[in-house]
Amino acid sequence: MDLKENYTSIKNQLPPGVQLVAVSKMHPAEAVQEVYNLGQKVFGENKVQELMEKHPLLPQDIQWHLIGHLQTNKVKYIAPFIDTIQSVDSEKLLAEISKEAGKHGRTIKVLLQVKIAAEESKFGFEISEAKALFQKYLDGGFPDTEVTGLMGMATFTDDKEQVKGEFLILKGLFDELNRLKTLETLSMGMSDDFPTAIECGANSVRVGSAIFGRRDYSK
Ligand SMILES: *Cc1c(COP(=O)(O)O)cnc(C)c1O
Repeated sequence: MDLKENYTSIKNQLPPGVQLVAVSKMHPAEAVQEVYNLGQKVFGENKVQELMEKHPLLPQDIQWHLIGHLQTNKVKYIAPFIDTIQSVDSEKLLAEISKEAGKHGRTIKVLLQVKIAAEESKFGFEISEAKALFQKYLDGGFPDTEVTGLMGMATFTDDKEQVKGEFLILKGLFDELNRLKTLETLSMGMSDDFPTAIECGANSVRVGSAIFGRRDYSK
C-alpha cells in the first residue's frame, strides 16, 4: 500500500476549496503519522476508544473529526481536544457537547448528520428535525457549540443518479439553512462517491480506504 501515491492521487482530484478529512479508522497510528508527514492535518475516526488510543501518539496539531455515532456518555472523553463532531444525530447529544465544551472553556464545532439514504439508516436527523434543531441553536440553545454545517451519507449503490439525488437533497437543506446563518461545511462523499458529492456541492469529503487501503474487519 503506497500511502504517498494514494494520498497524492486523492489530493489531485480535489478542486481548490474542498477539504479532505482523511479517515484513519482501523489503521494504525504509524499510518496516520505517514500521511501527516505528507502534509495532511485533518483526520477522521468513528470510534471514541480508537481515537483516544491514537490521539496521544500523534502530533498535537492534528484536527480530529469524529464521524461515527457518539454516545452522550462518551462526549466527556473527547471534549478536551476534538475539533469537529460530524455525527450529531440527536438534540440530547448536542446539549451534552455544549455542556462538556463549556467545562473546558472551548467551543466545539459540529455538523448535523442528516438521513438522506434510501436504505434504513439508524442515525441522523430527518430534514424537518434538522431544521428545528438548527433554529434552537440559532436561538442560543447550545452556546458552547458552533454548528458549522451538515453531514450525510448516500445509499451504497452503483446507481449514480440515485446517489446524486440524495446529495442534492442535502445541498438544498444546506442552502436553506445557510440563508439563516452562514455555514462553512457540507460534508458528503467517501472513497467511492466523492467526485459525485463534489459535483453536488460538497466542500468537505471523508476519504478512508482510497488513502489507507482496505480495512481488515477480521481483527
Ligand atoms: C468509514 C467512513 C468513511 C470513509 O469510508 P471509505 O469508503 O473508506 O472512504 C466516511 N464517512 C463515514 C461516516 C465513515 O464511517
